[in-house]
Order: sequence, then C-alpha cells, then structure tokens
Amino acid sequence: MEKQERICHVVVIPYPVQGHINPMIQFSKRLASKGLQVTLVIFSSQTLSTPASLGCVKVVTISDGSDTGSRSIADLLKQFQATVTQKLSQLVVELGISSGHPVSCLVYDSFMPWVLEIARHLGLTGASFFTQSCAVNSVYYQIHEGQLKIPLEKLPVSVPGLPPLDVDELPSFVHDMESEYSSILTLVVNQFLNFRGADWVFVNSFNPLEEEVVNWLAGQRSIKPIGPMIPSVYLDRQLEDDTEYGLSLFKPALDGCMEWLDAKETGSVVYVSFGSLAALGEDQMAEIAWGLWRSGCYFLWVVRESEEKKLPCNFVEGSSEKGLIVTWSPQLEVLSHKSVGCFMTHCGWNSTLEALSLGVPMVAVPQWTDQPTNAKYIADVWRVGVRVKANEKGIVTKEELEKCIREVMESERGSEMRRNSEKWKKLAKTAMGEGGSSEKNITEFAAKLASKFN
Ligand code: UDP
Repeated sequence: MEKQERICHVVVIPYPVQGHINPMIQFSKRLASKGLQVTLVIFSSQTLSTPASLGCVKVVTISDGSDTGSRSIADLLKQFQATVTQKLSQLVVELGISSGHPVSCLVYDSFMPWVLEIARHLGLTGASFFTQSCAVNSVYYQIHEGQLKIPLEKLPVSVPGLPPLDVDELPSFVHDMESEYSSILTLVVNQFLNFRGADWVFVNSFNPLEEEVVNWLAGQRSIKPIGPMIPSVYLDRQLEDDTEYGLSLFKPALDGCMEWLDAKETGSVVYVSFGSLAALGEDQMAEIAWGLWRSGCYFLWVVRESEEKKLPCNFVEGSSEKGLIVTWSPQLEVLSHKSVGCFMTHCGWNSTLEALSLGVPMVAVPQWTDQPTNAKYIADVWRVGVRVKANEKGIVTKEELEKCIREVMESERGSEMRRNSEKWKKLAKTAMGEGGSSEKNITEFAAKLASKFN
C-alpha cells in the first residue's frame, strides 16, 4: 500500500457570530496557503447553506444546541459550552479518520477558552484567537487580573498602553451592569482564563496600528498580531480567488447596490452599516434617516431585515433619489468602491479594520460592546474619523449626524482624515505582504506546526 503523505491538520473553531467567523475564515485560508490541511467548524442554530469548502479550507457545520428553548444569555452561553464540549472531541477524532490526517492543532476563538481543555485531553496544540482589538482586550485583561475593579472606582480609566478612557470610551459591558449583559462581561473577561496556558495567542491586529498596547500585552505573555484578516485581494493578492470571506449568516443582497454605486460620482456616497448584531431604537433610526437626508449626500444604508420595520414611514420611497437601502451588502466591495466617500459605522472591529485597510474615513456611531473604544481610536488616536455626540437622552440627533457627515465629506479636517486613512491602508498591506510583520507570524506558526511532521 502506498504510504500516505503526512500533512499537518488544523481545526479552526470560531464563535458563531459573523464578526468572529469572518476573520477566522481568513486565518484558515492563510494557513491552508502555507500547506496545512485546515477544517473550519461552524456552529449554527440556523439552517445555513454553508459551502463544503472555501478554497482549500474544508467547512463542517454542526448544531450549536441553542434550539432547545433556553432564554437568558447566561443559559444560552452555558448550553452552548455544554453542547460544543460534548460534540467537539468526537468531531475532531472523526475528522482525522475521515481525512486520513489526524488533527494536530485546535485554533479556537478566545470566547471559548474551554476548548483548550479539549485540545489537552486529545494531546493537541491549542491556539487562542482574539477577534477584537488589543486595546479592548487589554481592558478585559486588567479586569481579569484584578487591576481594574468593577464597578469602576474612578474615571477616566487608566490602562497600560491605552489613552485614558472615559465612561463612554470603555467597552459597554464594563459599566452596563444593570442588565443581563453581566454574563457577557464574564464571557469576555474569561477569555484570559488560560491566556498563559495556550500554546499560541493570535490577535487580529497589526503593527503599528496598536503597537503600544500590543507590546504591553506581549510583556505578559507572547502574542502574535496576524491581521488585518481580510480577503487577500484587498491586501497582498497572494491568495487566488480570495475576494470575499465566503460565508454569510445573512442573505446576500440582491439589491443591485454595486450597479447603483457605479452610477455615482467619486467620493459622493455615505455608506452606512451597523453590522450584524446592533439593534437601534426607532427614534435613533429616524434621526439617522433624516440626518442622511439633510446632509444632501447620496447614501447606501444597510438595514437588516429585523430592523426594517423601524424605518420612518415613507422614508424609503421619499428618499429613493438620494439613497438605497439594502438588507445586507458585500461590504468589502462597497468600501473599496470609488464612489464611497465615508463610512458611517457602528465601529465593530472588523468594520473598523476593513475601513482602515481600504482607506475610507469614518463617522463613528458606536452602539455597545467594544465599539466605544474602537470609536475612541478612530477619532483620537488614528484620526481617521469623527465620533458623533449623543444628547442627554442618549440619542444622536439628525443635526449632529449631518454636521459629522459634512465634516468628513467636505471639510479640510475630512481631507486630513482621508490622508491618514490612506497611510493606514499602506501599512495594512505592508503587514500582510511578503516579509510583513503579520505575515511572518503566520508563517512562523505554520512552519512550527509542520516541523513536528518532519
Ligand atoms: N458585513 C457585511 N455586509 C453588511 C454588514 C456587515 O458583509 O451589510 C460584514 C462586515 O464586512 C464585517 C462583519 O460583517 O466583516 C461585521 O463584523 P463587525 O465586527 O464589523 O461587527 P459585528 O457584526 O460583529 O457587530
């Protein structure tokens, strides 16, 4: 019998939300391009038509167990952990048998630190992948280490490697203690449970974007920036046909938004998206609608199906000359389109990295979770955008939105933001290009894993 070639097999396990799946897909593709066999595991409660593969990456989809009627966030998280723990060991063994290549490493989302125990039990390498910014993770690390006390004792908060942070610049879970979000605070702080025990720790960032905080965190234990994790066509063009992430939990837009953009002048469109999870109040949706209208700019606005009913009456029909509203967009294609002049964003970490990597200035309208801290960096550290101010009722008014859009689209400061964005675009390409800092970290990881097979 012919001796089978020994190939290093890695299983990549993202937390099942879009903003975690996308960067971990990209990491999987990068590892596969270095000659590793990679299987991506997608947990889903939805009936998803996932592709069997994304390029050389095999995709397997299994139920996450959230279809059994649990209600509270805490219950859902507990149930998820129990189901995945039970299924994952078996799956990993089966994947090894069915592919003929036993699995040697689990790359797990840092939201699931307990996967390291599964890796240890099976005698595998365990690598933790942080999908949020290093700045945000440093805040959570300080809480984990007892250096930052909750409830907060004084403001602004001082965290090594970060500018001083006021309450509205901190991740929301740090101070939103009233609600059931306290179980999410536990989740994000627990990312550090086995921070030192994992064999590798990856962060979706790049030098010099967060250099100070990356260096500080790296002083606690070795961490490897490997970002920005966006399709290769927008960075180094090293991977063939890598033009999109390739797996959407939302129905792709069939709304002709690219053709609509083609017909607009260079830099004339405001692209608006609040990502895959944020839910805005009806009042806020109305202010955004009229703020866009008052700016006089063209706008392409992503309003997910679940949010559509919050749009003001007649706005869609009334604004059709100026705007197009779609339920989901090919965001990278949109951001790289020449007609797009600015991105009104909720500042999710992927959206932020995508805008930075494509050189698009931002109007930052953070909603919750890590977004306020990302917005702080966008406005005050990288100076690639302006952050809106909410009124005393917590609403960002149409007048404020109009002012911020005009500032980015029309003012001298806006031109400066555009120049800064262009600088980050180049640096992102450098980090991922041949010999770049992130690229080297990925190569080192792949080489170390593969060396165990030689
Ligand atoms: N996205 C997309 N189309 C949309 C809106 C979002 O493809 O209409 C993608 C976006 O490119 C990003 C991800 O969904 O990669 C959202 O992640 P992010 O971290 O920005 O925000 P989250 O959804 O986690 O709040």
